[in-house]
Formats: sequence, C-alpha cells, structure tokens
Amino acid sequence: MSVISILGIFVADISFSGNKIPVTGETILGDSYNIGPGGKGCNQAITVSRLGGKVNFISKIGNDEYGKLAITKLKKNNIDTSNIIISEKHQTGVAGILVDRNTGKNAINVIVGAPSSLKIEEINFEIIKKSKIFLTQLEVPTEVTLSCLKTAKDNGVLTILNPAPALELSKEFFNLIDYFTPNETEAEFYTGIKIINEGDAKIASEKLLKLGVKKIIITLGEKGLFFSDGKEEFFLKANTVKAIDTTGAGDAFNGGFAFALLKGKKIRESLEFANKVAGISTTKLGAGDAMPFLKDLG
Ligand code: ADP
Repeated sequence: MSVISILGIFVADISFSGNKIPVTGETILGDSYNIGPGGKGCNQAITVSRLGGKVNFISKIGNDEYGKLAITKLKKNNIDTSNIIISEKHQTGVAGILVDRNTGKNAINVIVGAPSSLKIEEINFEIIKKSKIFLTQLEVPTEVTLSCLKTAKDNGVLTILNPAPALELSKEFFNLIDYFTPNETEAEFYTGIKIINEGDAKIASEKLLKLGVKKIIITLGEKGLFFSDGKEEFFLKANTVKAIDTTGAGDAFNGGFAFALLKGKKIRESLEFANKVAGISTTKLGAGDAMPFLKDLG
C-alpha cells in the first residue's frame, strides 16, 4: 500500500475559546476549551489518516502525560507510531491557544519540547525511502529536515514542504522541494511581497520559483489559494463555511493535498479537494481533533 511519511512535531494543544482574544493584562471568562493533538506534523498526519491514507509519523515526544496523550490520539487515528522516539530527557511539546469564536482567529504560544532535540542518527530513513510522498514543515531542526528531504529525492519520493514557521533556507534545500506550500505571511517572508490579492500572489510565486522549488501553492486563508508551476497558474476561492477556529487550517490543507496526490488526482482536482478539507476543519474547535473524515466531505 502506498504510504505518506510525515516528519514533524506533536504538541498537546490547549485551546480556549471566548468572545475575544484577551489583550495583555486582561482576564476574560471564556466559553469552552479543548485539549487535543496539535503540532503541524501531527495535524497533517491525522488529516491524511482520517481521509483514508496510510501514514508513518516521524517525531519525538517525552515520557510524560502529554506523551501518553500523543500515542493514544495517534493510534486512535490509525497512524503508525513506530517511528516516534520517546525521550527520557525531554518534555512533550505543548501549545497554549487563545481563540476568538466570532472570527475563528487565534494567538498561539508553542513550546516545541522533545522534537527540538531530534538528531539525524535517530531517523529511520528506510521508511522514507519506501514512501510515495514525504511531507514536512520547519518545526524540527533544519539539518534533520534537510537530510530527510535528500533521502526522499534520492529515492524518487515526491516532496512537499510546508515552510512553517518560515526560516531562512539554502539553495540546496529549495532544490529538493517539489511542492512548496507557504501561507501569505510565509510567502512574504521569502519574497518580501505583502500578499493582499491574486496579483501579489502571482508576483510572489514568480520569485519563489526562482529560488529553485518546482511548484508553488500559496494559501490565502479565507480567500483561498494560488498555484503556479511557471507554466500553469490559477487561483481557487476558499469554500464558504462558518469558521469558528482556523487553527490547523493550513495543516488540513497540506494533509488533504498530499492525500489527493497519493490517490493520483491531477493538480487542480487535488487543490480543490485540499481547499474543501481545510474549509471544513475550520468549523470545529481544535486542530488535530477538528480534521474531517472522508465521509464529512459530502
Ligand atoms: P495557515 O493555517 O497555515 O495560516 P491559511 O490561513 O492560508 O493557512 O489557510 C489554509 C487553507 O485553509 C486556505 O487556503 C483555505 O483553503 C482554508 N481556509 C482557511 N481559513 C478559511 C476560512 N475562513 N473559510 C474557508 N476556508 C478557509
């Protein structure tokens, strides 16, 4: 069976939803909370698995309560956890998330914990070699990400990099990427172009292609997305939904996109699918817990 390998972090997301995001020094009485799986890699893995794809999740957690939550949640979502390193020396990551329920917008503080100590020697490269797609982000040490991308490319595995959080990357790094999926802020980091409309996304994509990546998808939040590979380019509008929490929308998008490619869908169809998956993920509180199943797509 074809597999997607995902390198990334797990953090326990502790989300508080209320009428607003409190400002410094302010206390508010919120209305609900959720403690669930988070971290971009984990959210993307859950998305692929809930849609029906087979996922190897490569990560590192601590031997603590949130580490147990990680394994329970991942197993419950049918994700292979045999490549998750359990550290005796480090804590499992945690994120404190404040959500404005009226807009779905959030403010997040992530403590990465154990994965920040991930080493190249700890990676099982064999499972990357056997995968059809390798999907990752920039939340683990860059040298680990780079060696995994190299292994993937050397073995004909399709690579997707969701460059979040945005970091300076070398030419060597960009050359290993088939699909580069920044959001507006990350695209601005790499190009210096503030993306407000489709025209800005087009100019930013041209700059990004010059860096060496092969195909660009800039996600534009509630506006949708822009795709370019230098020959074909198009804009897709986001689906209209009642967003209550947009945490993890980009992860739902990347997971949905990787799954569609795994299933052999063409680029436009894959992006329409990812757009739909991401839109639905915004209608529930939480990140990993809010990812839709195939049956929810209608
Ligand atoms: P990130 O979560 O990484 O910041 P974006 O905010 O760009 O990423 O969102 C990723 C994708 O999620 C968008 O391209 C779109 O498909 C979907 N999305 C995000 N916000 C909304 C929304 N309010 N309504 C519908 N779809 C949304």
